[in-house]
Amino acid sequence: MLHSRIHPIKFITKHGCCVYVKRDDELGFGISGSKLRKYQSLIPYIKQQSIKYAVLIGGAYSNNIAGLAQLLVENNVVPYLFLRGDQVPLYQGNFLLTSLLVPTEQINWVRRENWKYVDAQAEAFLYTLPQPSLLIPEGACMLEALPGSLSLGEDIVRNECEHELLFDHIFIEAGTGLAAIGLILGLRKLKRDSQIHILLLAINEAEFLEKLGGFYKHLVQSLDEDLSWEEIRKGLYFYMPTTAASFGATNQKVFKTIIDIARQDGILTDPIYTSKLFLEAQKIILTTPAITGNILLIHGGGGLGLMGYQQELEKQLRKEKLIK
Ligand SMILES: *Cc1c(COP(=O)(O)O)cnc(C)c1O
Repeated sequence: MLHSRIHPIKFITKHGCCVYVKRDDELGFGISGSKLRKYQSLIPYIKQQSIKYAVLIGGAYSNNIAGLAQLLVENNVVPYLFLRGDQVPLYQGNFLLTSLLVPTEQINWVRRENWKYVDAQAEAFLYTLPQPSLLIPEGACMLEALPGSLSLGEDIVRNECEHELLFDHIFIEAGTGLAAIGLILGLRKLKRDSQIHILLLAINEAEFLEKLGGFYKHLVQSLDEDLSWEEIRKGLYFYMPTTAASFGATNQKVFKTIIDIARQDGILTDPIYTSKLFLEAQKIILTTPAITGNILLIHGGGGLGLMGYQQELEKQLRKEKLIK
């Protein structure tokens, strides 16, 4: 099972609270920690089914596509990509990395106005490929990635035992939602009732709960013990970002946060997911008196995303007069 460490951070300080970070970012360099957990069950499934071709859906700068492409190539699976975009975007960040891994002939561009049809288009393309082949939805948010995702909850319980503490509150961000769903189901399966705070970056609360319900149903069917929906649903709190709110958006505040966290805690965060989580968690913790005790922030990785924002980061360093 994948194991990452926890340690205290200084970026968020509040009387009566001990704030820790879980370093899932340290699980891999080329692949984000939260993605590695998903692939721990997805890749064995792909091998077991002898899958030779995979069709992946996502944004041009997706962590999932840049990450999963590595493991597919390694395992002799040919990846075909359906990427969102009206034209080929700049060769930087994750898209540059993806282009190192996947030939351009295997990339299909889907215009934004047609994005609602992408699943149907990708599925139609899948049937033109020799079988067995597999459709991998955005964020690899699929049943085959659930067992791996559950390990986040199990690993936190291991951190709790090692450090002889219990986390009262855990903060995580959601893109397609599976990483957070793995955390929730993994913890509740082990009868841990920590309050879980979810920052919704690319999904709304209703969609998230519907997905959670679907994965929950699948999980209880494979479990001997019972796990009620009430146990799952209790103690979940949802938030929307208050700055650079739309998915993928960035602004000066985000870049300032990246620098602050780096200077105070020596941790690199990315502008799309983890710096937003730290920033919003700070706001929520400082403005909610009921949040006290041991608090854990999940750092799910995504550091390579920084590659796409070099100019912005340099500009921010200059603006804060940290460089001349
Ligand atoms: C992919 C990713 C997410 C989103 O995960 P989902 O399972 O799609 O919600 C969050 N944080 C980081 C760092 C990621 O790489």
